[in-house]
Amino acid sequence: TAMRSGAKILNYAEVVAAKKTDVWTLDVKDKQRDGDFTIKAKVLINAAGPYADSLNRLTGLTTRHKHIFSKGVHLIVPRLTENKKVLTFFADDGRLFFVIPMGSCSCIGTTDTPVETLPARVTDEDRAFILDNINKRLRLKKPLTMADVLSERCGVRPLVKEVGAKPAAQGEDWMNLSRKHAIETKRDQKHITIFGGKLTDCLNIGRELCDELEHLRVPLKRNDEWVGESLHKYVFEEAARKEGLGDIQFVGEGTLIDRLWRCYDQDAFTILDRMKADPTLKQAVSTQSSVTLAEFSHLAESEMVVSLEDALRRRTRLALVVSHEELAASPLLKKAAELLFRENAEREWQRYFGDQSGHTPVRQATARV
Ligand SMILES: Cc1cc2nc3c(=O)[nH]c(=O)nc-3n(C[C@H](O)[C@H](O)[C@H](O)COP(=O)(O)OP(=O)(O)OC[C@H]3O[C@@H](n4cnc5c(N)ncnc54)[C@H](O)[C@@H]3O)c2cc1C
Repeated sequence: TAMRSGAKILNYAEVVAAKKTDVWTLDVKDKQRDGDFTIKAKVLINAAGPYADSLNRLTGLTTRHKHIFSKGVHLIVPRLTENKKVLTFFADDGRLFFVIPMGSCSCIGTTDTPVETLPARVTDEDRAFILDNINKRLRLKKPLTMADVLSERCGVRPLVKEVGAKPAAQGEDWMNLSRKHAIETKRDQKHITIFGGKLTDCLNIGRELCDELEHLRVPLKRNDEWVGESLHKYVFEEAARKEGLGDIQFVGEGTLIDRLWRCYDQDAFTILDRMKADPTLKQAVSTQSSVTLAEFSHLAESEMVVSLEDALRRRTRLALVVSHEELAASPLLKKAAELLFRENAEREWQRYFGDQSGHTPVRQATARV
């Protein structure tokens, strides 16, 4: 959306220093090519999530807010139930605990524990907490163990605190710390930091940010268009049915037509055009998911994919729901790598699947119960 509105976007580009004179000058490290460059900006918006505080320290800014971190871990296992609904329980620590349908799998979690350093890692205790809780709450034929786990996810929630506020003491209600965001503007510095927040609140955060920018005299073209699902969905459904996609369903994912629209919105039309031009691109790259070759062809041109890990863990969720070994053995995934990386396909393949990739199957990890 940002690109369609004219934004210039760089990924794998880390701001390593920032200085304010009449404008901001950012020193940026290109993490792909090991090069450096600078960017000039009238206003600097720090939206670095959990890294916002360290970025502010780098620029020498002091703020009224800061973050404390809560680690959240999920384990992904082959589907536990045919039920399409999210199952909700209270875990031993009194928090809500979920089994979320994820294609051919179930995603179980999460944990909510304080951490002080980034990036956070999954520990044996995290795994044990999740397995122990799910085994207590579902009557499974066989209790789940790490041998059942296909993949794990670990993230950090940045929670906002006012500087100087009393730290959450042992036993104090850590889980009830606010998930609300705070936007802090240093007008004289022309600098804005977004602290905390939730994805579901992103439209409100965006609107507040625009208000702040206008206060800093940045002229904006305000656009209050409807940002929800568009009526073009029905046009897409009709066109996709004509193209023969109507009968393609995948367990846990619903119809391919629905998934394409849900994941790509208007770009689903481009993916359909690719399928029309080359019907072999309708093929799914794995028997465990409906992700098609046409989607990889789209990712190659529109989603700034620089590695197989980007494509398999972050753009599609294939690496979360299909085992590493099965992906490595898929000839169609090889074809997908060629669509993504052309003459560099073999190099990227080896980087992800080769002996030097450092990959260890998650089911070999231990869980201390
Ligand atoms: C376990 C877990 C469960 C969650 N569940 C929910 C939920 O159910 N509902 C919900 O609404 N939200 C949920 N959230 C919160 C949601 O994920 C966040 O609100 C959302 O990701 C915030 O997006 P963001 O773009 O602001 O920050 P981020 O996604 O954190 O992005 C920050 C970006 O800044 C980049 N960056 C950092 N430092 C630098 C630097 N020096 N230079 C350049 N770039 C930099 C990072 O690489 C990153 O890409 C959950 C979070 C976690 C961890």
